[in-house]
Amino acid sequence: MIKFLDLEKINNRFRSEIDSRIKTILDKGWYLQGAENETFCKNFAAFCGTKYALGVGNGLDALRLIIRASGFGPGDEIIVPANTYIATILAITDNGCTPVLVEPDIKTYNINPDLVEEKITSRTKAIMVVHLYGQAVQMQKIWDLAKKYNLKVFEDAAQAHGAEYQNRRVGNLSDAAAFSFYPGKNLGCMGDGGAVTTNDEELYQKIKALANYGSDRKYHNLYKGLNSRLDELQAAVLDVKLPYLDADNARRREIASYYRENITNPAVILPQTYDEKAAVWHVFAVRTAERDRFQQYLSDNGVQTIIHYPTPPHKQPAYREWNHLSFPITEEIHRTIISLPISPVMTNDEIQKVTEIVNVYR
Ligand SMILES: *Cc1c(COP(=O)(O)O)cnc(C)c1O
Repeated sequence: MIKFLDLEKINNRFRSEIDSRIKTILDKGWYLQGAENETFCKNFAAFCGTKYALGVGNGLDALRLIIRASGFGPGDEIIVPANTYIATILAITDNGCTPVLVEPDIKTYNINPDLVEEKITSRTKAIMVVHLYGQAVQMQKIWDLAKKYNLKVFEDAAQAHGAEYQNRRVGNLSDAAAFSFYPGKNLGCMGDGGAVTTNDEELYQKIKALANYGSDRKYHNLYKGLNSRLDELQAAVLDVKLPYLDADNARRREIASYYRENITNPAVILPQTYDEKAAVWHVFAVRTAERDRFQQYLSDNGVQTIIHYPTPPHKQPAYREWNHLSFPITEEIHRTIISLPISPVMTNDEIQKVTEIVNVYR
């Protein structure tokens, strides 16, 4: 069986380094808000090209905190792609804001910047882009609109660590960005973890306090905050893995270009990219008419696949109030999409096998 993602193999490459960092933490007996967190955040900010990075509990919290620290709440609208993982939407509704859904571009699966302006109202406060499947959104039109209408821009960069737009990395393309270090992400820890990146010192300080019970210093609470921090063990694991991320992303690009050159089955629509460096291929999502039959066929032939995602947020029971809404492009994507295995530890033999099996599907 060719696994969709072999996490054990991914992390075992760093086993001795991780072992020794964990031993250091055990020896010191310091588990939260210590040297590991500080070091990793400094290194991650440098990786993204931002002034600040703040470790938080997970990607959803990173998103929630950005919106909360910006002071947005009930009555405020945030523009967001209809085609995303539900966490992006949950972060908006959790703050009492209204998500205003925009259709994606069916070729890249990312928000279609040409459809954003018509959704802007007097209540619009921000545009939240999502660099879905590891491909950076084409930001220029988004920036122009934000300037014209005085809006904030945020990034959900949970799937795109290291992806670039105009030679800048995601995380550094907006007022603030959210990252997730969920184990399966391009940079993943061994549990839950996340980060916010920003160049805005005031916002950084506010998010830092909000994530720590709302306190700016011990036992002094400025805000009604929450507890969402990146612990020392996770920070250490991430700091071990970060120096290898560029090479891992390069390998993902190699696999993606192999698939894109060699998968020639007309029944399978390949993902498109406008710039090779824009994408870090968190997911290699293809589309096909009879998706479930295709998935069964691949499984019967030893190829494990995953569907990202079978149901769009507006059709979920949690958002019953929007179930009647229609976003045909989003729905078409969710109906036909399926992700082939892609990971830095796949062998050339496995990549060729997946390609051959896909090509003989009828
Ligand atoms: C993974 C993910 C999140 C949530 O991150 P968690 O760390 O799992 O909370 C948010 N948005 C997108 C697009 C994601 O893929």
